[in-house]
Formats: sequence, C-alpha cells, structure tokens
Amino acid sequence: MPSETKLDISEFHWMMDMLQTIDVGLVVLNNKHQVQIWNSFMENHSGLDPADVKGKVLFDLFPEVPRDWFCHKIDSVFQLHSRAFTTWEQRPYVFKFKNYRTITGTADFMYQNITIIPLLSLNGAVDHVCILVYDVTDAATSKAQLEQANQKLEILSRTDRLTQLFNRGHWEECLAKEFKRCQRSRLTSSLIMFDIDHFKKVNDTYGHQAGDEVIRVTSQALQDTLRQTDIAGRYGGEEFGVILVDTNAQDAYAFAERLRERIEALTVKYEALEINYTISIGISEIASDISEYTLWLEHADIALYHCKRNGRNCSTVYQAGMDGEGH
Ligand code: GH3
Ligand code: MG
Ligand code: MG
Repeated sequence: MPSETKLDISEFHWMMDMLQTIDVGLVVLNNKHQVQIWNSFMENHSGLDPADVKGKVLFDLFPEVPRDWFCHKIDSVFQLHSRAFTTWEQRPYVFKFKNYRTITGTADFMYQNITIIPLLSLNGAVDHVCILVYDVTDAATSKAQLEQANQKLEILSRTDRLTQLFNRGHWEECLAKEFKRCQRSRLTSSLIMFDIDHFKKVNDTYGHQAGDEVIRVTSQALQDTLRQTDIAGRYGGEEFGVILVDTNAQDAYAFAERLRERIEALTVKYEALEINYTISIGISEIASDISEYTLWLEHADIALYHCKRNGRNCSTVYQAGMDGEGH
C-alpha cells in the first residue's frame, strides 16, 4: 500500500473520537447482524454499554425492533450494495428511545430517520453495514403541531362563532355536494329553511344581547332535534338551513313541526327577561327537474315566505307553482 494512503494511527483515533461524539446514532453490524461498533449516542440513549453489546445480535438486544421488516432492509443492503432508508413518517422509530428534550416534551419517544449504508471492504465485498440513526423529534413534533393547528383553523373557518353551527359558506358547499349526490343517485333529500318570527321586535324590546341569546338557544334546539346525518348551518342573521339527507318532504315536514313546536314551547331566560318566540319553516324536497342547488334553496325560501304571509309559526312544503312574490 503506498504510504500516503495509509491511515495514520492518530488520524484513526481522531476519526473514532468524532464518530463517538457526533449527535447521530452509529451502529456497525456484520453479516450475522452482530454489533461491531456502538457509538456514544447509542450508548446514551439505550443505556447499553459498547462492551456489553459487542458481538451480540442486534435483534436480541432490541426484541421490540420489528425483526422481519428490519432484517429485510439490512439484507437488501448486503445484497445490493446500495443504501436503504426509513423515515419517521413510515415508522416513527426503530429503536425505542425516550425523548429527553424538554422543549418538545409533547413526544414520549425519539422520532428517527434511519439510513443503512453498505461498508465496502478492500476486496469489494460487503461484510458489514453501518446504521445511522437521526433524531428528528423536533421536526416531527413541529409538523404534527402544524397539522393540528391547521385542523383547528379549518374547523374555525367553517364554524359560525355565535351558534357553533356551520357558517353560510361551508353549509352552502355541503348543499351543493348533496345536490350533486342526489342528482347522480336519484335519491331524495329535503331542505329546510327557517327564520325567527318578528326578530326585529325581540331586538327592539329586549336588546341585541338578548337577541343573540335567542339565536343561540334556537341553534341548540335545532342541534337537539337533528339526526347525525343532517347538516345544519346558520344561513344569515336569524335564518337557518338544514339539509335532511335521504328524507322525503313528508318526513321533513314531521321534523319541521317537531322543531317548531319545541321552539314555541321554549322560554329563553336572559338576565331577568323571559322571552317567548316562534319560527317559520319552508321545506322543499329536491325536484328532479332542477339543474342547480340554488333553485332548491329558492323553493325552500318561497315556502318560508308562504308561512310568513300566512300568519307565521307554521311549516310549509314547497309545491310546484307556489308563487314567490312578495319577498
Ligand atoms: P319576520 O317575522 O318577517 O322574519 O320579521 P323579522 O323582524 O324577524 O325579520 P327581519 O329580517 O326584517 O329582521 C331580522 C333582524 O335580525 C334584523 C337584524 O338587525 C337582526 N339580526 C341579524 N343578525 C343578528 C344577530 O346576529 N344578532 C341579533 N341580535 N340580531 C340580528
Ligand atoms: Mg325573521
Ligand atoms: Mg330574516
């Protein structure tokens, strides 16, 4: 061997020192999966001393490592002489180490990315592989936190603040989807639009705050009347919409009457006030001849205003030819 390629003994020591100190786990295995090198990262996190692990089969030291899966990875590196990887997204960790970081205290264990590299000997054979273990707990937990925050934001963006029902934008999206679904499947769903009667008077008599409480109580009564599959939203100030999935007009009418009677029987208590009020409800079963969800909405609206013209506190089913004048 030419002298300049010889590894100086002190360089060798430096190299070993560096491998010991780096903040990455480093394990060398022979082709029997026996540990040859175990750096201090591995020692510190596993509590296993290099002297105790040397020559031991990795899977005997870590029985919880998924043996078949990891063996397959390691053996492919031996056979193909190419690297193999696993990321925390595929498998959060291979070696179950505690997460000691205080800042990212949200994770109980260390998330890991793992790289397995073939170690080529001078004769070109691969008799050893090196496993590198990267601690990616910070990246993993901040990604998880970001996803959580995004999820919360998404919920907020479709929720009405006062009632916690869907807001108009999201509810209309649901309505458009349900309309398409019914068109495709020729199933029947019904739509309900309802509006508090003489709500201006509630505000004028009892104040805006009391009015808000009436809106809140109304949405609670609605929630209590709904089935799981029904989709309710606050459409406007004191106007609400409900999509009754797989429900015909007759059943929707029964639902509407239940809700209307429930609200009629309610007394809203706000500070020293006691407020009684009613609602009017328009119902429309999806018609086979309409091409857009907005027409479905319009039919329910026409039925609602029919109630208003007929003395309020009632439910009306839309019928073809019902006139929508006057609103
Ligand atoms: P009708 O029986 O015909 O429905 O009469 P109405 O007085 O209920 O109808 P109108 O639509 O004229 O009045 C609705 C009122 O609701 C007007 C508006 O000031 C009030 N309003 C809208 N949003 C809110 C809200 O969030 N809180 C309160 N307190 N009032 C609201
Ligand atoms: Mg009203
Ligand atoms: Mg109104």
